[in-house]
Amino acid sequence: MNRQIATNFDNKKSFFSKILNILELYSLPSINILQNSTPKKNAWKEEINRQIHKFWNDKLKSDAFNKTSLKYVCIDNLEIGKTAHVWKLKNQPRIEIRKSIVKSRMMTGTYILQSDKHKFTHFSTEATCQLCHTESEDIVHMITTCPVLSTIREKYFIDIKKVILDSCGPAKWNTYCNNKMEITRLILDWSNFKESLSIGMELAEKLEQKARNLLFQLHIKRIEILDARNIK
Ligand SMILES: [Zn+2]
Repeated sequence: MNRQIATNFDNKKSFFSKILNILELYSLPSINILQNSTPKKNAWKEEINRQIHKFWNDKLKSDAFNKTSLKYVCIDNLEIGKTAHVWKLKNQPRIEIRKSIVKSRMMTGTYILQSDKHKFTHFSTEATCQLCHTESEDIVHMITTCPVLSTIREKYFIDIKKVILDSCGPAKWNTYCNNKMEITRLILDWSNFKESLSIGMELAEKLEQKARNLLFQLHIKRIEILDARNIK
């Protein structure tokens, strides 16, 4: 080890230098500390795993935080190796998988609406909602406002509001779910409200399932209308 330090300390391409860089990258103890106090094999393995997990988890969160397409997702809840709520589908029928696909696309900004087409085509396609022609069609419009989808919204959204009112009471609902943006965040990812609405496991499962239903039904209705009008 001492010979390696003496001969390779300034050789950036050496195996030894690469190890030094890896130790630094993952905030592991320096070579000097390790030399003075060599950890036991299992403890060292655990520490490496913990630090590597922490590094990539922090990176995932900081990258996700800077993506505007993920603004409705609760970034704090993201964790490498942990299944996102939207994909908790154990023993679920195929239709539930389709619902999860739609919801996850909406959560991650990959569900293409008219305002996205407007951006992608450098503004040559109009952003106006092709269902109602009243305003720009973004995810907030689709979930909370588009009058053409109001029947579906009323039917499925009432259910979501009811479970929250039953569990949290009207005061919390009025405080935290009082505008279209907050309602959109709630429906796309209830874990944004885990603390403020004290959402436990039972309520979480209900909200996840009901939000999937609402979003899927809005999606189906939207596609039906666009298809009938022959709009791509
Ligand atoms: Zn509309």
